[in-house]
Order: sequence, then structure tokens, then C-alpha cells
Amino acid sequence: MATGKINVSVENIFPLIKKFLYSDHEIFLRELISNATDATLKLKHLASIGEAKVDYGNPMIELKVDKEGKKLHIIDQGIGMTEEEVKKYINEVAFSGAEEFLNKYEDSGKDAGIIGHFGLGFYSAFMVSDKVEIITKSYTDEPAAHWSCDGSPKFTLKKGKKEDRGTEIILHIADDSTEFLEENRINELLRKYNKFMPIPIKFGTKTETLPKPEGAKEEDPAPTQEVDNIINNPTPAWTKQPKDLKEEDYKSFYRELYPTQFEEPLFNIHLNVDYPFNLTGILYFPKLTNDLNIQKDRIQLYQNQVFVTDNVEGIVPEFLTMLRGVIDSPDIPLNVSRSYLQADGAVKKISSYITRKVADKLASLFKNNREDFEAKWNDIKIVIEYGMLSEEKFFEKADKFALYPTVDGSYFTFSELQEKIKDNQTDKDDKLVVLYASDKEAQHSYIEAAKAKGYEVLLLDSPIISHLMQKLETSKEKLSFARVDADHLDNLIQKDDTQISKLSDEEKENLKTNLEEVIKDKGYTVQLEAMDSAASPFIITEPEFMRRMKEMQQTGGGGMFGMGNMPEMYNLIVNTNHELVGEILNTKTAKKRERLINQSLDLARLSKGLLKGEELTNFINRSYDMIK
Ligand code: ADP
Repeated sequence: MATGKINVSVENIFPLIKKFLYSDHEIFLRELISNATDATLKLKHLASIGEAKVDYGNPMIELKVDKEGKKLHIIDQGIGMTEEEVKKYINEVAFSGAEEFLNKYEDSGKDAGIIGHFGLGFYSAFMVSDKVEIITKSYTDEPAAHWSCDGSPKFTLKKGKKEDRGTEIILHIADDSTEFLEENRINELLRKYNKFMPIPIKFGTKTETLPKPEGAKEEDPAPTQEVDNIINNPTPAWTKQPKDLKEEDYKSFYRELYPTQFEEPLFNIHLNVDYPFNLTGILYFPKLTNDLNIQKDRIQLYQNQVFVTDNVEGIVPEFLTMLRGVIDSPDIPLNVSRSYLQADGAVKKISSYITRKVADKLASLFKNNREDFEAKWNDIKIVIEYGMLSEEKFFEKADKFALYPTVDGSYFTFSELQEKIKDNQTDKDDKLVVLYASDKEAQHSYIEAAKAKGYEVLLLDSPIISHLMQKLETSKEKLSFARVDADHLDNLIQKDDTQISKLSDEEKENLKTNLEEVIKDKGYTVQLEAMDSAASPFIITEPEFMRRMKEMQQTGGGGMFGMGNMPEMYNLIVNTNHELVGEILNTKTAKKRERLINQSLDLARLSKGLLKGEELTNFINRSYDMIK
């Protein structure tokens, strides 16, 4: 038997690592199973090229818990190690790897991220164990070796008793880590980290029901048998070729990934590149709600089928973190901080590749089945609009397939819309005015008024739409958006010069004075307009700019232009051609005039949803009195 001291410069790095990675102790299992997987795959490779004269067979990795003995065994049938190799790989590589990791970790400080998720390797066994043993037999003819160490740099190494090829790691679980002797806890970890690892992982057995033999009676119980309990799916869908997968395979893989998710995904995108970086994966578009925050962190990141994290911030562009699915890439550096990650060249390429693939998929869905694309628009628009806002490259592509639905359920692309309204909806400055509603119910009377004039009214109701409109107005020439109840509409109405006012200039002057006298304390700017006599007598509008700024402040444009709380500002448009307005002008008594004006103003406020509380109650009571 040999004893020795491992040559590391830090006398005892074990307590340091234990302290640093306190919350990440559970990763030891993933690390050890990864090593077992690597060892098995190496043997497979050597066997395939004829280097190893062995029968590769159907190897698996087995986990055993010995609760009484406080031991956890991880057993593989892989390449194994000779005594020399243990000295080299465990005493030197594993320990120096741990030391290197520690240095890096200290450097990057407390930048929480995927750091700590990877890179510690074999040494992580000491985070949960008092003592670790390795009993290993190389695939060559060399005898087995038995290594043992308590985490200090001292170790023993002797001949081992093991006949079959492979490695058994025995962890003597420390008193503060006995949770890892619980079957449930182990199952939880296996499900989290190893669900899709490429070598079958056995943990215990399970009872399987067999078909009844022929001629069995109804009351006879079905025969059962004990079988290996394999906890992983070694060939998940993303490792296969798209041509070998059907729509149903993608759907069932989605259910495998998100067992508690009942809603089916809308569509998927299969990612598959091997140059200039290696990346596979499947992304799914789920049905999204308007709540942007609760839907993040659903994409899982893997490296060679080993789960790393479900926080892919910095790896995929932010707007795509709302999607679900899997990304698997060995080319993403993981033992670095997030800020470093974002600056990394390979990661940037990966991020723009994913963006491009998503844009291309959407473009082809739009092209090949527009009807279906329109039907799904409401559920996917958040991602697309968010992407158009935040990624210029995505904007360029999405501008061709992003849809603008009308209140009546037609869908236009931007250029179709432009074509449709260019002759009818321009203002005095020749700007195209796109009219929209954000709430069909609340803005009903305005929508009807605009439609009556032959205008096209869009229904734009996502939470970030005001930001997107701002972006469109700056990136396209001569364009402005105006909500149906906005003052922009006045410009369009004014342009409509077929209407001649029935009132003389003097009458108009009188009317204005009358109106302003009655409503002077209410904060409205009065404007007289000659409109169709069938249009409403009083209409309240709100400057588009002010309202939109307010909305943008509420949805994340905070502090924009350093503005504080925006004041409420409303215009009162009075239709001089309406009969009621004529009556207001010609009323004999001031009292009646005041009543007509107040009642009309309240009706206009009611139709804009501005009449509330005590004023609403008064209005209702007054109206009852009137019809008595
Ligand atoms: P890494 O896996 O990143 O190289 P580790 O510290 O996990 O670092 O392991 C060090 C080395 O020990 C491995 O590279 C491998 O050669 C050897 N090793 C670890 N576990 C096994 C195993 N189960 N079977 C064979 N060799 C192993």
C-alpha cells in the first residue's frame, strides 16, 4: 500500500470550497455522474476504433444508497483507471482542477450566475463526504486500484478487489449532508440534472406489470416482475435529426420537459449547428399572457445532455427568454460571471444565431400558412413586439411579418396597412395617421365615429405597444399613430373640408364664450369643429403624445426625458353642426344653457370613461329627474 501527499499549493482547499459553494453542494452528484458518463463514452469510442478489445454491451450507471453505513455508491462500467492513472488523474488533475476553479471563483467574486454550476469535477464529492473511496479497474489487463482520501491532501492507494471493468466511487456522507442518503432527495437531483444524460442511470428497481398469460381467468392477478428503475431518457428529442421527428414527437418531448404544463405549445424551432459553434436544442412558443415577468426562466441550458441551469439570461436575447425548451451547447463558458458571458464572442454568435432562427421560423410560418399565423398572433405578439423593440436585426426581419389587427378582425402587415390607408388617412403635414384602439369596449363610441368616417381602426392592446409605436414612428418616415380618442384625429377631421360650419363667426365666438364660462374650472380646452350633424355634439380627446408618454412610463420607460408625473390634459371638441349645439347657442335662459352644457359634457365624459364617483352619481340622479 502507498500513502502520499497530494501536491497542491493551498494546504487544504477542502474547507474553502465547502464554504464558497455552500448553496451548490447538491451539484456533486451531477459532477460524479458526468464523470461516469464520460468514462463510459470514452470506452465506447475506444471500442469503436478497435483500441479497446472489449464487449461494450449496454453499459449503465448505477446509484446505491446504504443508509445504515451512511454511504452513497456511484458505479459505472466505463474505461476505469489503473493505479498509475489514479495517481495522475485524481491526485493531480482533479486536485489541481479544483484549485484552479477556486482561484477563478475568488476572482469573479459574488457575481451570482451560472458560476459554480460547473467546473469543480470529482473534487466536489468532498463537499458532502468525510471520506471518498475509488475502486477502479481499467479496461486493460492491469489489476484494480483502491484509493481513499478524507479531503486533506493525504491519500492512500493500494491494490483493489474488483474483477469487472469500471469505477465505483464510495462517498462516506458527512453528518451535515445526510439529506443525500434520502431516496427522495436523490430522485429529485437525478430528475433535475440527469433526466436526459446519454447513458442509462439505474436507481433501485420497480415493479412492472406483465400481460396475463393466455387462458388466465378474469380474477387472476396480472403477473409482475422487478426491473431496473432507469430514471433518464438517454436520447431526448433535441439530440435527433429534425427529419426523424414528427409533430407529435415534439409535443411529447414538451410534456416530458414540462410535466405540469397542460397547454400545448404553439410551434417549435429545432436548433442544430456544428460550425462555427456547436449547438442543438428545441425552442417552443408557448401561449403567452400579458404578464411579462412570470414567464421567464423556462428555457433549460444543457451541456452534452447535462442540465446546467434554467436561467439563460445573457445567452439568449432577453425577448426570447419568454420561450421554453432546451439549448445544449458545449461552447458556452460557464465558470465565468454573467457580465463576462455577455461580452464573450462565442456567446454573442450563439445569441444572434438563435435570434435569426426564430425570425426565419416565424417568417416561414407567416408565408406558408398565413391563416394559422393570424390565429396565433395574439399569443405570440408579445415576443415579437418585444424583439422588434430590443433587437435591430430582428426588427428588420419581423417588420415583414408582424401583424396589425383591426378592430374587426382583419390582419395587415405594415406595408399592407400603409397601402390601404395612404389615400384617406394623412394629416395636414402629409403624415400617415394610423388610428388604433387599445380597448374595444372602453373606446367604442370613438371607434364607431372613426369607422363612420371610413377610417381603418387597429386594435393594439399589448402592454409594450406604446414603445413599439414610438420605434416605428422614428424608423419609418412620415408616420404617426393616434388612438381613436386622441387629438390627432382632429387633424384628420379638419382635413375633411367638405363640412361647412352652419354658424357664423360671431355665433361661434358667442358659443365659445358660453361654453368656457360654464366649464371653466374643469380643465378642458374647448375647440369648435364643423362636423357631420350626425356625429356627437361633444367629444373629449386627449393629446396622443401625453397619453403615450404616460403609458410608456408605466411599462418600463421610467424616467424617460426626466419627466415626473404627467398632467392630465383633455380637449373638448364641440360639433358646431349638431342640432343640440345650435340649441345651446339659442337658449333664452342662462340656467337652461348651463344645464344643457353640463349634461352634454358629462355624456362626453361618460363615453370616454372619465365620469366616476360622486360626479357619476350626480349625473345619474339628474338624468332620472329629467325623464320623470
Ligand atoms: P474533469 O472530469 O473535468 O477532467 P475531474 O476532477 O472530474 O475533472 O476528474 C479528473 C479526471 O479523473 C478525469 O479527467 C478522468 O480522467 C478521471 N476520472 C474521474 N472519474 C472517473 C471515472 N468514473 N472513471 C474513469 N476516470 C475517471
